[in-house]
Amino acid sequence: MAGEAGDDVEELRALVGQLRTNLEARGRSGLVGVVVTKGPKRVAAAPAAAPVAAPAAAPVAAPAATVEHVDEHGEVAEAKAKTGKVGLQVVRDDLGDCKRCKLAPSRTNLVYGVGNPDAELVFVGEAPGADEDAQGEPFVGKAGQLLTKMIEAMGYTRDDVYICNVLKCRPPGNRNPEPDEVASCEPFLKRQLAAIRPRMIVALGKFAAQCLLRDDTPITRLRGGFRSYEGIPLMPTLHPAYLLRDPSKKKLAWEDLKAVNAALARVGIHPPKPPAG
Ligand code: URA
Repeated sequence: MAGEAGDDVEELRALVGQLRTNLEARGRSGLVGVVVTKGPKRVAAAPAAAPVAAPAAAPVAAPAATVEHVDEHGEVAEAKAKTGKVGLQVVRDDLGDCKRCKLAPSRTNLVYGVGNPDAELVFVGEAPGADEDAQGEPFVGKAGQLLTKMIEAMGYTRDDVYICNVLKCRPPGNRNPEPDEVASCEPFLKRQLAAIRPRMIVALGKFAAQCLLRDDTPITRLRGGFRSYEGIPLMPTLHPAYLLRDPSKKKLAWEDLKAVNAALARVGIHPPKPPAG
């Protein structure tokens, strides 16, 4: 019928608009020359203004984008950065035995990231601590063990989600990351996220939230409200290390994680196990 055909055209137009917005956002992230190929992964329908209400957009078919990237010399690399496992490996290979910043000499291991390369849900922390530096895996110390419990309370395992940090190397004495270190490392985080294409990001603590959102609002005010990172819904929450220092705040973080589960459920994404009550 003519009315239905008109509706279809309108829907198609909306989808194309959403796709364009998404790809433009990826372009702005420092990834250039986005080439769209066909693929099965689905992404959030539209980037939301910040701050945003809990995302409720219907999932749309999305491209498995093939993305040219700028290498460390600022040139467009020949290689195409693919998505998922291959894409993450390309980024890891580009990091190599990284010596781009002053953290390199004191690190034991570069801590890249761990988990599912096609994860719907990604957790981003600040930087490796002593345990992570020793083991080469993010969030394996005391704070990491609490994060693991939080992930499991949501109904996931560490293998279902992806976990990484803004910085890949440990700042000496766990001092705060410095701007030149962030400038060197953050492009690789952006590329990790572009390869994974999650449906939701949880920013753990002040540093990750403020860095990803370019917003210096205190974490106590940022937490609990959905924002948008390159078109991906982002929930800032309290860092597990902070929760270890003040366990009375755990219930706030749990509210944030329940809101994440609820937002994902609205787009048909459910954890493999039922979440804790
Ligand atoms: N804190 C972080 O922010 N990241 C880790 O990997 C460990 C502790």
